[in-house]
Amino acid sequence: MATELTDFSKLCVHTLTTKPWNLRQCVENYSAAGIHGITIWRNVLENQNVKESRTMLDDFGMKVVSVARGGFFPSIEKEKRQQAINDNLLAIEQAAAVGAPAIVLVCGADGRQPLEKSREQIKEGILKIIPQAKAAGVQLAIEPLHPMYAGDRSAINTLAQANQMAEEINSEFVGIAVDVYHLWWDNTLEAEIKRCGQNGKLLAFHVCDWNVPTTDFMNDRGLMGDGCINIKEIRGWVEETGFSGYNEVEIFSDKYWSINQNHYLEKIKNAYLKNT
Ligand code: ZN
Repeated sequence: MATELTDFSKLCVHTLTTKPWNLRQCVENYSAAGIHGITIWRNVLENQNVKESRTMLDDFGMKVVSVARGGFFPSIEKEKRQQAINDNLLAIEQAAAVGAPAIVLVCGADGRQPLEKSREQIKEGILKIIPQAKAAGVQLAIEPLHPMYAGDRSAINTLAQANQMAEEINSEFVGIAVDVYHLWWDNTLEAEIKRCGQNGKLLAFHVCDWNVPTTDFMNDRGLMGDGCINIKEIRGWVEETGFSGYNEVEIFSDKYWSINQNHYLEKIKNAYLKNT
């Protein structure tokens, strides 16, 4: 079991968690709340001068944990696969520009072809962008997604699959993001987290909760403690591998997006200390 969290030094919030806020609002409000870890979703970088964004992040003492997201490699159409490569190269550039050490890969799937074919294309896509990732000093974190997304968002659905792919690719620039929302149900999770850590592949740890019942498979994630995930136990497994990175709060929730975001940030801080 993990040691209790007593401060916010390892708390990171994803900008999409507070979706109503733009990047400046996220930075100002997180910083005022004593939160200095931030994962930047690329939507808040649109139409922004990244150099100015970088200066603002530095001025507020923010540590960018990662940029989300790259990926979406598979398609039965060759042009789409090329577009995905181009978009991933842009994501790498953006990550380097804002000082993020990693980008998170939502790997993608095309329901018009077998999962195995999508997995091959994911591997090909990652292999293609490694040189640029290396040159930019940005790691690529494969994030396995819950199997409910296997038809359209990711053909990588278990940590075992992600471990296997990262091992096959065998690059110091390719690792894995472990998200409790996607992986909590897997009875091999403890062993696979251990394997991931032993290989030096555990790059990121995302938390939220699984609401029971879940009313929307995209935007009904719970705040830690709202649902049924054994978050503390999983964090313990992650930390046992020697992981000392941030605990990243990533919640997509129509319910929480509709309330006052400063109040919500206080709820997040409480849930972080109590239920994470
Ligand atoms: Zn995640």
